[in-house]
Amino acid sequence: MEQRVTLPRFPALHGWCNRLLRIDLSSGRIRAQEAAPYLPDYLGGRGIAARILWDEYPEPVDPFDPRNPLMIIPGALTGTPSPYSGRTVVAAFSPQSHPYCWFTRANIGLNWGNELKKAGYDGVIITGASETPVQILIQDDQVSILPADDLWGLDIIQTQDAIHASLGKKLKVMTIGPAGERLSRIATMQTGSTSVAGQGGFGAVMGSKKLKAISVVGTGKVPVANLEKLRWLYKEVGAQVRALRGPRRAFKEHLKRLNEELAPKGGQARGWACTAYCPTPCKLYLSTEGCAFQRHWEGGWACVSSLFRGWKGHPLYDWDFGLRGGFELNMYANALGLNHWELLVGIVPWLRSTNEKLGEFPKFNGRPVDWYSLDFWTQFLHDIAYRIGMGDALAEGAPRAASLLKLGEEIVRRYYTGWGYSGHWDGHAAFVNYIVYPFWIVGALHWAMDTRDPASDTHGYVQNVMYVGPFKRDGIVKNAPITWDHMRAIGERVYGRADVLDPLSGYEGKAIPAAYHAVRSVLKDSLPTDDQVFPLIYSLTTPDRFFRIGDIEGPDVDAHLFRAGTGVDWDTQELERAGERILNLERAITIRHWGRDRQFDERVIPSFEYDENWINPEIGVRMSLDRERFAPVMDEYYRLRGWDVQTGWPTRERLEELGLGDIYEAMIAGAKAARQRLPTLPSPEPVLDIHRYDPDRQDRLKEQKQSVP
Ligand code: SF4
Repeated sequence: MEQRVTLPRFPALHGWCNRLLRIDLSSGRIRAQEAAPYLPDYLGGRGIAARILWDEYPEPVDPFDPRNPLMIIPGALTGTPSPYSGRTVVAAFSPQSHPYCWFTRANIGLNWGNELKKAGYDGVIITGASETPVQILIQDDQVSILPADDLWGLDIIQTQDAIHASLGKKLKVMTIGPAGERLSRIATMQTGSTSVAGQGGFGAVMGSKKLKAISVVGTGKVPVANLEKLRWLYKEVGAQVRALRGPRRAFKEHLKRLNEELAPKGGQARGWACTAYCPTPCKLYLSTEGCAFQRHWEGGWACVSSLFRGWKGHPLYDWDFGLRGGFELNMYANALGLNHWELLVGIVPWLRSTNEKLGEFPKFNGRPVDWYSLDFWTQFLHDIAYRIGMGDALAEGAPRAASLLKLGEEIVRRYYTGWGYSGHWDGHAAFVNYIVYPFWIVGALHWAMDTRDPASDTHGYVQNVMYVGPFKRDGIVKNAPITWDHMRAIGERVYGRADVLDPLSGYEGKAIPAAYHAVRSVLKDSLPTDDQVFPLIYSLTTPDRFFRIGDIEGPDVDAHLFRAGTGVDWDTQELERAGERILNLERAITIRHWGRDRQFDERVIPSFEYDENWINPEIGVRMSLDRERFAPVMDEYYRLRGWDVQTGWPTRERLEELGLGDIYEAMIAGAKAARQRLPTLPSPEPVLDIHRYDPDRQDRLKEQKQSVP
């Protein structure tokens, strides 16, 4: 199929391009749609995706159905010099989600979204499917669907190199690897060497449409309302975040050590920003020769991927492949298009424990399991991406693979908190994020309410309370720059309660930060900003450790950025109201499509009802979630959202307040239809805590726990 059109433009807006690109790969139709009807109420990114989904999909479709809309939508400020604005949302019906493949999202960094905005688009929505491999080329107003038979079968790095060689080096390319081509439910979409829409399995949606790549180059500029104010905010935010991160010296010394280690093989390491317009680069970029492959690897090394190197003494990650070996596995998994989080936090811990605790996984495709062998790992990753032998089931993700292989079914949930996603800042399933009671209660609420792993959007509380507070993995920091007194005062200021940030508090008040950060996660995905940094709450340059830039308080910076970029004169309250509107719409979509309700939300509770992985140094005993004490916290969360406490459904009044009165009836009618359509799911079993299975101690602890707040 070859198709080429030149598209019209609509009246320009500040921040936005006022144009959405709609492509149907079945008919080959390419058209432009005005974005103004969604603006400013749905902001951009996640907001526009949810509104389009609601308007155009009264019923869910299978993720591999050609009708599944693959949406790639930057935010209102993407393409502008707003700090950390280079992020873009990917949304569709998700292959990875479980037990329902419901509509959800992922977030991708680097600069693909910037380039799309410079080409004059606020987003791309792709439906249909081609019979033969194709690629999409966007060059300002000219959009083409081109054959991609020569690209199909190449890995992600080879594909980008081939497109840069044939169509031009300036192109920003979004593509998939062998995993996506073979519809692996844990396949990623990727741009550059390392930036991925990791969670959700969206790479398989591209594969199901025979869509190999979407490349864009833009020659335009995104007009903004107040460039000077944006630049000033960029500078000020960057300065404060750098200060909060501590002296650069530590990062420089780390880089020096890495370069010394890489030098013998001519390798290099440098600091790297994983997102365009990031004023505080905190990631690594390496270039080195391979160990397992005769190949030069070059790219970013971010997030959980450092675990590929191994973690000395860790019960699940104690291999040691060194810097080059670990980086090579990172890049190889990228080239294959596989979700690192799913592999490292879910699949490998599950298989390892299944073998070590149950002796059930001695061989992988006829080869003895050897997590200490680089060659074993490369075959393991290859066979998952190419769906070879057991790799075929593993390509479905662990929750499905466990039942397909009848393997470690009783322990897989020890690593999966909910909805088909492995743990993340939950204090239980994830062994990589150090967090203790009572703070993971907020994480439990986020998991209960979301359609995917929520932590990628809610680091603002669960991560920051552990990163900036006085607790560290190995105990309490002496002379911590931010004390619990600072934290309690900030709790009072931001959430209206000091005990929200108190290590000796309990369940009370935890619904407040959960409700607050759920809305803030929507803003991060729709403005956008960086989830590792926003909302801006903590500072090391102010006496009370609360973030301020002149007379602008940290949590209000988002509204200042939005006003400076778009010219829309909203304050924080109106911006959060837009976030609330989008969150309620996302909720209504799950109710309309799947009849989701409170009982369904509570399916994640067993993932917290066993001993936490780490002990709060101030309490001294391991805690687990107490369902009876958690129930009133869920009640409060629903009340704060304006949702019915029994059903967990937005009330008609709440939806009308948010300008969504028109969706109420359809939401209710859809839920009724879904209940007739869907089989009743069995209640989730308690999670077998294989890491600390000691029945006697359980009871002993239960008595002790009664005495803790
Ligand atoms: S995680 Fe955030 S601060 Fe770090 S490089 Fe990426 S955008 Fe910058």
